[in-house]
Amino acid sequence: MSRPTIAQALREGAARIQAAHKAYADAGSSPGLDAQLLLSKATGRSRSGLFAWSDRVLDEAEEAEFEQLLARRAAGEPVAHLVGSREFWSLPLVVSPATLIPRPDTECLVEQALALGLSSSARVLDLGTGSGAIALALATEQRGWDITATDSSEEALRLARINCLNLNLTRVRLCQSDWFDGIGDERFDLIVSNPPYIAVDDPHLHQGDLRYEPSSALVSGHDGLADLRRIIAESPQHLDSGGWLLLEHGYDQAEAVADLLQKQGYTSIGLRRDYGGQPRVTQGQWVMQSPVARSCDQAGKS
Ligand code: GLN
Repeated sequence: MSRPTIAQALREGAARIQAAHKAYADAGSSPGLDAQLLLSKATGRSRSGLFAWSDRVLDEAEEAEFEQLLARRAAGEPVAHLVGSREFWSLPLVVSPATLIPRPDTECLVEQALALGLSSSARVLDLGTGSGAIALALATEQRGWDITATDSSEEALRLARINCLNLNLTRVRLCQSDWFDGIGDERFDLIVSNPPYIAVDDPHLHQGDLRYEPSSALVSGHDGLADLRRIIAESPQHLDSGGWLLLEHGYDQAEAVADLLQKQGYTSIGLRRDYGGQPRVTQGQWVMQSPVARSCDQAGKS
């Protein structure tokens, strides 16, 4: 049989991925885009290069590699793992099974952080940075921000370090820490996090890319809120007065997160929806009562 052109390979590849994913109803799959990314990888051409050279016939090695990648994708492996990278905030990030694959929705958290109007030398903490996505996006936008990114996983930090180096953003400080445990008594103007927030028995864990991502980056107790609770409770010890906490959460967790923030004493609580219109990021501000104000209160009462 003659070998396919780029255009034929893309068409047939997309149809094969679609058929496979229909079999297990893979929500959110995008067969056309998947085929392009996999053929880019197999041919070493950019996606636009594929369109420019659509009549070109694949050589034997390209066809064999595309075939292998397609078979793995059809069996369910995430495209990001097969090609080894994912774009986030226009940054090409190296990804691996050690961390969450960066999602477009998390870009809303980045936008929200940039919209706070913090000073050009703000101190920022990204808790559970994974591939480094949020910290690196902020670092490209705000060259003067002093950014620390933590993760409890050594493997994740290794990946984040590779991304820092690749993007020449080595001023982002990486630190192994289970939430705040390795942070000492440092305080920040902004704390951001996309923590694990899926309930342990959520059926989504058995669908799509989530099956191939580490549960330590996804699962958080029986209601998905265990880590969010801990971050909300401990952040006041690490925020300067007026500092902000920005949290990504599940589409159905906005009320619970706002409630936790309010009970803890945060103010200016606000919600940001993601590109699909789902509640996705909640923010709160921590304003410390100054000792002077407190003593005045007491004086007033006595
Ligand atoms: N947003 C991811 C998903 O639902 C989960 C990410 C997380 O737990 N932080 O696919």
